Amino acid sequence: MSIKENILDIKAHLPNHVTLVAVTKTKPISDLIEAYEAGERIFGENKIQEMSEKWEALPKDIQWHMIGHVQTNKVKFMTPFVSLIHGVDSLKLLAEINKQARKNERVIDCLLQMHIAEEETKFGMNEEELASLLSSEAFQEMKNIRVVGLMGMATFTDNKDQIKKEFTHLKSIFDGLQSVKKDNFNLKILSMGMSGDYQLAIECGSTMVRIGSSIFGNRNY
Ligand SMILES: *Cc1c(COP(=O)(O)O)cnc(C)c1O
Repeated sequence: MSIKENILDIKAHLPNHVTLVAVTKTKPISDLIEAYEAGERIFGENKIQEMSEKWEALPKDIQWHMIGHVQTNKVKFMTPFVSLIHGVDSLKLLAEINKQARKNERVIDCLLQMHIAEEETKFGMNEEELASLLSSEAFQEMKNIRVVGLMGMATFTDNKDQIKKEFTHLKSIFDGLQSVKKDNFNLKILSMGMSGDYQLAIECGSTMVRIGSSIFGNRNY
């Protein structure tokens, strides 16, 4: 199937409350144009340099989501245009985003990435780190960021029960924080689910799925 057919097919099967992020990392501009022409307006990239180049080349009504791990020293290159940063996993990174957003006179929406997988290597915070971030004075004072949701990645495994357990865990953290509302904190988005596990993620409460290979085919790194 073509990129266009894949997008239309996936969108036709997503519940209304679930947003699709088309993950375009490593893919050529021509693929992104095809997705754009199919009506897709939200693209996810995991490298700031690559995202910036594509942002420059493409129509300006596209929303760019940074879904990868972000290095503090590179934040400034995306603050003029990024629409949502999924992988925020430290107060230090949030502080840098806040600082750069202030310079750009913007308020930037962020998701806090939680570590839910078994693997050691996946980025993200645990619940203790999340609690300490939220209660810190530095966070209270940040006016140029808004934490609008949580993001997580399940373990890379065929074991559906395990994936389900991890997604359900993230959903329970998300639900537990619904009572917390501040100017810079109001959880509405739960970003979980990729090509291999997004249906399961939606069953477990996902409101935003990040899909790459099921739209654009496998990536050759
Ligand atoms: C690459 C990537 C995806 C998309 O993965 P697919 O399996 O190709 O759908 C989703 N989320 C993150 C964080 C990624 O880096």
